[in-house]
Amino acid sequence: MTQEKWGQLRQRLLKTVGQNNYRTWIEPLEFETLQDGVAVFKVPTTFMGNYVNQNFSDLILYELSTSGETVQRVSFHVAANSTARPVEDRVAAPVKSSERPAPMETAETTSGLAEALQAAPLDSRFTFETFVVGKPNELAHAAARRVSEGGVVTFNPLVLYGGVGLGKTHLMHAIAWELRAQKPELNVLYLSAEQFMYRFVQALRERKMMDFKHLFRSVDVLMVDDVQFIAGKDSTQEEFFHTFNALVDQNKQIIISADRAPGEIKDLEDRVRSRLQCGLVVDLHPTDYELRLGILQSKLLQYSGSYPDLQVADGVLEFLAHRISTNVRVLEGALTRLFAFASLVGREIDMELTQDCLADVLRASERKISIEEIQRKVSDYYNIRFSDIIGPKRVRSYARPRQVAMYLCKNLTSRSLPEIGRRFGGRDHTTVMHGVRRIEELKVTDGQIAEDVEMLRRALEA
Ligand code: ADP
Ligand code: MG
Repeated sequence: MTQEKWGQLRQRLLKTVGQNNYRTWIEPLEFETLQDGVAVFKVPTTFMGNYVNQNFSDLILYELSTSGETVQRVSFHVAANSTARPVEDRVAAPVKSSERPAPMETAETTSGLAEALQAAPLDSRFTFETFVVGKPNELAHAAARRVSEGGVVTFNPLVLYGGVGLGKTHLMHAIAWELRAQKPELNVLYLSAEQFMYRFVQALRERKMMDFKHLFRSVDVLMVDDVQFIAGKDSTQEEFFHTFNALVDQNKQIIISADRAPGEIKDLEDRVRSRLQCGLVVDLHPTDYELRLGILQSKLLQYSGSYPDLQVADGVLEFLAHRISTNVRVLEGALTRLFAFASLVGREIDMELTQDCLADVLRASERKISIEEIQRKVSDYYNIRFSDIIGPKRVRSYARPRQVAMYLCKNLTSRSLPEIGRRFGGRDHTTVMHGVRRIEELKVTDGQIAEDVEMLRRALEA
């Protein structure tokens, strides 16, 4: 059979299976050979091979044989460079035309849905090689590495959480790439929670829940990104819950990301929440100076390929690492802009150029945390009145929050101890110093205090 003929057959399949199914399952098939009654197709993933084999191979066989080809069987194999492995073949008797299967319901094309149906593509830049490890993300990185080995499932699910632009999606893609390379036999499905919902809704609408369930229960590793998206969407949560349980029962690895801790996601069903908390929950902390500098240095290396003539003056990266916020996406954007600009004007990247080119970014991240903001956040957090934070009462229930607030003022603002004292109802600088020291000690001995301080710091820096 020629490629051209396969092209014609595909058009017939399109009519039978509908646009969505066609785009997702048929179009990516690459016809290879038809020999000794076996038609061989190349598929991008094992998962896809299995799915097409189970759901569409009869139909493909039928089209092949009614078009005059001598064929008994179709076979799919994964295009993994040299090692082509067959996906379990389906042997089928040639179908007589009178037994032609009833045409499947033709799905209407809603472009958004059609796209959502594809497994989300992986970003080729998001690998472990390009992920810079530092204190704020080392635990998350280590957990991701472990899961990417595809060995015995020890923690399920793995939940990665943290604010935007801290590398959750990057790590998930890195896991998927690694598994694809090391364990190509595993079906790895990565998608956003939003795509999960689209698929679910579409399956409901097209009465294809069996397919949906089958699809999700046949993966070996399921990754759902930004799971907070399904909070408040009741039936999607329910379906997610069942999918989740079915996979955990089969000891299949699940990896979830969220923009905050499962316990803090509003409108998440309790049973989903507690399921998420059963596994290993690790957070990506806001980046610190060292990590930002490391990321900038690594990006510089990557860029130097595309801009071989560019020079970066001493101190520029350090300056950026210092001045730009914790969000890595913003940091990367700034560097990209800087390089594009410098290469346009043909200048070395020095401090002057940096200030000119990034004036807006620098201004935006200049936001300073004020003493009053800290006092308000801390009083909200401990559920006491603002006036009690700065007031004279010395009972523990006010004194401790006050010390926490002093500690945060010392660490998050550039105010001096006497000035902080003045803003806490005219206290002496030694009182402030004592408060700061007390919290420093308690952070080591008292887990609750350590957690409070951390939460507050994060809320203030967000
Ligand atoms: P999130 O999903 O947490 O919002 P992303 O994974 O999309 O964040 O990361 C945002 C951008 O920052 C991406 O381009 C990613 O490659 C980059 N990035 C984040 N953390 C790191 C890191 N530790 N090393 C290198 N690049 C990083
Ligand atoms: Mg993300």
